[in-house]
Amino acid sequence: MDFQLSQEQQQLRESVRRYARDKLPAVAEEIERTGKPPDPELVHEFADMGLLGVNVAESLGGLGLGNLEALLVLEEVAQVSAALAFPIFESSVGPVRAIEHFGTPSLREHVLPAVCRGDLQVAVAMSEPAAGTALTDLTTRGELRDGQVVLNGSKRWCSGGGHAGGYVVYCRLSKDPGARGIGAVYVEKDSPGLSFGRQEELMGFRGVPSSDIYFDDVTVPEENIIVPAGGFKKLMQAFDLERCGNATMALAQAAGALQDVLEYVQERQQFGKPIIDFQAVQIRLAEMRMQVDAARLLIHRAACNAEQGLPSLEESSIAKCYANEIARTVTGNAVQLMGGYGYSKEYAAERRMRDAWGWGIAGGTIDIQKINITSAMVGRRFDQRR
Ligand SMILES: Cc1cc2nc3c(=O)[nH]c(=O)nc-3n(C[C@H](O)[C@H](O)[C@H](O)COP(=O)(O)OP(=O)(O)OC[C@H]3O[C@@H](n4cnc5c(N)ncnc54)[C@H](O)[C@@H]3O)c2cc1C
Repeated sequence: MDFQLSQEQQQLRESVRRYARDKLPAVAEEIERTGKPPDPELVHEFADMGLLGVNVAESLGGLGLGNLEALLVLEEVAQVSAALAFPIFESSVGPVRAIEHFGTPSLREHVLPAVCRGDLQVAVAMSEPAAGTALTDLTTRGELRDGQVVLNGSKRWCSGGGHAGGYVVYCRLSKDPGARGIGAVYVEKDSPGLSFGRQEELMGFRGVPSSDIYFDDVTVPEENIIVPAGGFKKLMQAFDLERCGNATMALAQAAGALQDVLEYVQERQQFGKPIIDFQAVQIRLAEMRMQVDAARLLIHRAACNAEQGLPSLEESSIAKCYANEIARTVTGNAVQLMGGYGYSKEYAAERRMRDAWGWGIAGGTIDIQKINITSAMVGRRFDQRR
């Protein structure tokens, strides 16, 4: 067991850190002000720098590195801004990985290289108005007709909705009830019959577009089927990696907040001395540091144990759950330690707190991760319906 990153991994992290901290803070502020996602030019710059598809095979346009390297890159950019890191999240741990693992060769070659070049962003459309945690209640249907799939239904809370060029759509591909009838299909934004609801106004996640999606006889070729009916388990396996990405986005909010507040408490004076000289402040900072370190270790454990494959449900759920929880606590503590300045939009602390909250809902709520964890410990699934 080795808790050190290799020299190459440290260099990768350092170079992304330098770039992110030098070049991106002003862009992050602009995104927060306007709510607009990163410009296409910037996404292309990410691609040129090799930040997109770090862990995607070289033959598909990626760097061919491991999941850990991808998460290191993601954390550095997400420490500056989750919205800026979102295209990186999508390219390395997002739904494109399901296409890479399970899609047909032609679909893989159509989608992955375009994502790694920064020409295409792909979002995931799972949730529906009446199917959130109970995802297997989803009703969007894909009917197989003459070599094509005809989709009808609607999706909710799609991050990237209306902005992404492609969508991995979870849908019913057979009449089998529950999980057995569910598969996934790739749909492009300009497909006839596809439309989007208004852009949602969320508590955080500014710069990450979100909307409903409507499917009205949207027709795509059968080759766009990523997994057929009965493949829900495979989709969930690919989702184990997305969980580590979600955990990293949450961790980054906490780590960024801790770094900012460390500087602040050494400068801010009250009662004639820097507030770090007060023991209550010291104790709070130490707790924040322990939580950040522990979250990072859990994420790296999940990624390293999977080697080049997909992390386990158990380790990715533990990492996500813990990172989601501590991100809320640590960013809240940062706001508190900065007093009135922490509550002001002039500093990033309040944005980090709002963004941190969302990761504990997106990708499966904190409580649901806990059910996954206990389920893994006793080796059986708990039926939520009976
Ligand atoms: C910022 C953000 C981004 C998102 N991005 C996407 C996206 O890109 N694509 C997508 O498809 N979806 C996305 N979602 C939707 C997300 O996956 C769902 O919000 C999430 O799965 C919870 O579903 P729900 O909102 O319907 O809540 P519900 O399922 O209604 O849950 C409400 C509460 O009840 C609890 N609960 C429900 N069932 C149980 C149970 N059996 N045991 C214990 N507690 C339970 C939950 O933990 C939660 O606290 C996003 C959501 C957010 C907030």
